[in-house]
Amino acid sequence: MLASTGPKSRFLGRGAIDVSFEFFPPKTAAMEETLWRSIRRLEPLRPRYVSVTYGAGGSTRERTHATVARILHETTLKPAAHLTCVAATKGELDDVIRDYWDLGVRHIVALRGDPPGGVGDRYQPTPGGYVNAADLVKGIKRIAPFEISVACYPEKHPESPSVEADIDMLKAKIDAGATTAISQFFFDNEVFFRYLERVRARGIDIPVVPGIIPIHNFKQVASFAAKSGASVPEWLGHRFEGLDDDQETRHLVAAAVAAEQVLGLVDQGITEFHFYTLNRADLVYAICHMLGLRPAKAFIESKAAS
Ligand code: FAD
Repeated sequence: MLASTGPKSRFLGRGAIDVSFEFFPPKTAAMEETLWRSIRRLEPLRPRYVSVTYGAGGSTRERTHATVARILHETTLKPAAHLTCVAATKGELDDVIRDYWDLGVRHIVALRGDPPGGVGDRYQPTPGGYVNAADLVKGIKRIAPFEISVACYPEKHPESPSVEADIDMLKAKIDAGATTAISQFFFDNEVFFRYLERVRARGIDIPVVPGIIPIHNFKQVASFAAKSGASVPEWLGHRFEGLDDDQETRHLVAAAVAAEQVLGLVDQGITEFHFYTLNRADLVYAICHMLGLRPAKAFIESKAAS
């Protein structure tokens, strides 16, 4: 009989995988409660960091700051603050960056942001502002030695004329001081591997971390994807077909789809993942469990003692 040589994912040990979780700042008291329940649920998994997004058009500046501050003061987690160039001068953004440093934040996800009219509109830099993400990275580095993550696009940014031109922009962000790239979500792992190959061939050697979006709601995710230039394979649509009014099955299918995707990436040697949590912990917790992550001992002991 042949010895089984299953995929590496069956043999994941502790410490083999690093994860980070992305949240958005809540708008209402009810959303705040959901967010904090999710943060508390995911905290014991000891992510490398958790990031908090910055609303389109700079609309959540105060809420992003408040959420980051609360994470820093009330949890064991390391927060990363997203920051965009939209609707703010360099001076205004520099003040925000200094405030973050003084607060104790050491990691920024630096982005250009979308045009205030939404994706598809022509992007116009704010007069006196940072012109794009590479420019913002330079500005942050001038202020303090933050760790800086930037966005990257396995299927290219919708405004980019080609994948090569898009990778040139990624290179500019890294030359300016970025140390990690987080990818736009994607559903076909081959797309990510092909992109990674092109990025490495361009001499980029920083970690390129796949962004994973669990599909709580297929229609909503397909609409995000259409706006952001991520393709939705036909087979994915088939998996969710007929489930619009069947939340329970949808949930199980979503867990299976995401698990299949991350384990497929692990099998090809990927060991770091960034999860777009949409402020919900359940699917992400289950996927992390499949990746071999378990609650840290200190959390199990303190739960048992309470
Ligand atoms: P850049 O890297 O500056 O540019 C993006 C692309 O535009 C380039 O790759 C290039 O193709 C083209 N481009 C830009 N400038 C030039 C130029 N001078 N010449 C030629 N081409 C150019 N948005 C938010 O509002 N808030 C968030 O918190 C947020 N978080 C995100 C997190 C992740 C992980 C990702 C992937 C995206 C996030 N976004 C967020 C969306 C992001 O702001 C948009 O995708 C935006 O349109 C581009 O931002 P960027 O930082 O990639 O821009």
